[in-house]
Amino acid sequence: MSYSWLSHLECGRCGVRHDAGVRQNLCVECGSPLLARYDLAAVRASVRPEEIAGRAPDLWRYHELLPVADPAAAVSLGEGMTPLLPLPRYGGSIGLPGLLVKDEGLVPSGSFKARGAAVGVSRAAELGVGRLAMPTNGNAGAAWALYGARAGLAAVIVMPVDAPEITRREVAAAGGDLRLVDGLIGDAGRIVADLVASGDGVFDASTLKEPYRVEGKKTMGIEIVEQLGWEQPDVILYPTGGGVGLIGIHKALGELRELGWISGPPPRLVAVQAEGCAPVVRAFERGERETRHWDGASTAAFGINVPKPLGDFLVLDALAETSGTAVAVSDGELLAELRRVAELEGVFVCPEGAAAFAAARRLRERGWIGADERVVVLNTGAGIKYPGTVEVDAPVLAPGGRVG
Ligand SMILES: *Cc1c(COP(=O)(O)O)cnc(C)c1O
Ligand SMILES: [Zn+2]
Repeated sequence: MSYSWLSHLECGRCGVRHDAGVRQNLCVECGSPLLARYDLAAVRASVRPEEIAGRAPDLWRYHELLPVADPAAAVSLGEGMTPLLPLPRYGGSIGLPGLLVKDEGLVPSGSFKARGAAVGVSRAAELGVGRLAMPTNGNAGAAWALYGARAGLAAVIVMPVDAPEITRREVAAAGGDLRLVDGLIGDAGRIVADLVASGDGVFDASTLKEPYRVEGKKTMGIEIVEQLGWEQPDVILYPTGGGVGLIGIHKALGELRELGWISGPPPRLVAVQAEGCAPVVRAFERGERETRHWDGASTAAFGINVPKPLGDFLVLDALAETSGTAVAVSDGELLAELRRVAELEGVFVCPEGAAAFAAARRLRERGWIGADERVVVLNTGAGIKYPGTVEVDAPVLAPGGRVG
């Protein structure tokens, strides 16, 4: 029995096959992202979904569908199996009493980027990478630096100076090689590309430029259906930057369907963006299969501030294949929603997650989501990573002072 049934890599655009046994970045033919493929017949023969229930509560419980070959190479900080919480009061207030949140605020490093990092770092180390580099809006860099430390792998992290400050401190704490750029994530990407081109053997771990981060993120999709008793929800709303999580969830559900572990139509996937940076929404509305660069991108939901996602066509394909949609919400809306969710449910979500809640409200109002549908919102990170989102107006009392 194999720990992993990874068989090969396949270009997401032109389908050309690549060897999964060596380090790979983009497709050698067309420069598009590569996707991991598995011997699903072998997976089907080697494990039943019921058996998974007894495994440790981290994402490696799905190891047959993950790319790491040697169990000893699977680095973990306990990521995965985050709660799928009912939100009856908040859900009821927006006309969706059955609303659920998949709360990724509870993973190591405080964002779901831990999933991509756990799998991406483990596989990179297994393939002999000693040093990697990546551009980031903060959370991915924090996660990759921390998991890199765990795996004994050096990480060069390049992020905008405006990225949430805590993520910078996470990288520093992990001993990461941090560089700040007075610009956006695309500018960070160019710095990483130069470093990689300089030829001193640093591996390019940029979003979708290596094939395994998406494998880590896809485990959110597997967990959602496992937690629902191997049933699919009707709708999943996802705050979309690079779109890796959405691509991953779509990929995972396709694999589970092919395995025969789930059946029926897929959940309608919703890509949620901020009005200040909505390239996927614009392309979706125009019926295009690719985004155009979003100029002057800006939003409080920093993790989804990606003006030109590399995997845009995969996101747009996933929306089309699931009869999904794309929605942009304003910063004002998402910050107000963040307060409502915390006030009604005690869940302090990140601004990106709050955007997805605002989109759920809007789609319910429009009738796109029905009142009795099973809807899952992804909260991709912990609200406590963004201390500036909530204004505090509290009196400061002298010691012994009375509360008036
Ligand atoms: C990175 C990030 C996102 C967007 O993730 P993608 O999979 O790249 O679209 C959403 N929320 C948070 C908190 C993030 O850090
Ligand atoms: Zn290709």
